[in-house]
Amino acid sequence: MEKRKIEIEYELAQFDDFCSIGKQLIEEARRATERSYAPYSHFCVGAAIRLDNGEIVTGANQENAAYPSGTCAERSACFYAGAQYPGVKFDAIAIAARGTDGQFTPEPVAPCGACRQSLLEYEKLAGRSVKVILVGRDYCYVFPSVASLLPLCFADF
Ligand SMILES: [Zn+2]
Repeated sequence: MEKRKIEIEYELAQFDDFCSIGKQLIEEARRATERSYAPYSHFCVGAAIRLDNGEIVTGANQENAAYPSGTCAERSACFYAGAQYPGVKFDAIAIAARGTDGQFTPEPVAPCGACRQSLLEYEKLAGRSVKVILVGRDYCYVFPSVASLLPLCFADF
């Protein structure tokens, strides 16, 4: 057997490192956490997607008493974007979260596997990289693409 290694490059950034467009996307993701419906986990996640047409579409996690029926903020946002603006390319997505204490999480929060796969579909449709900004209270992680967050992804579609 041959041992192999997968490495992921990303940037560590402070809020002030972003341009005004990036700052706006981060603020929209933070604001979207207020529209979360999370009576079970009390973990409020917001996502904001900037589209090629300049629109920013947001989503927030929507939980349900029948747990699998709920959805994450990222999928809420990308499916809404796909439904409202079919065929419009994604530029970037920012994701923020507030923990059970109601405060923004100190560490950036990463999307779950299902959301990574869902976002990958839109990245593939866009035909270019979609930047992913994971927003923590004091700093962010910036990934150059959705695919970079999903090594060995299922992308043969
Ligand atoms: Zn998810």
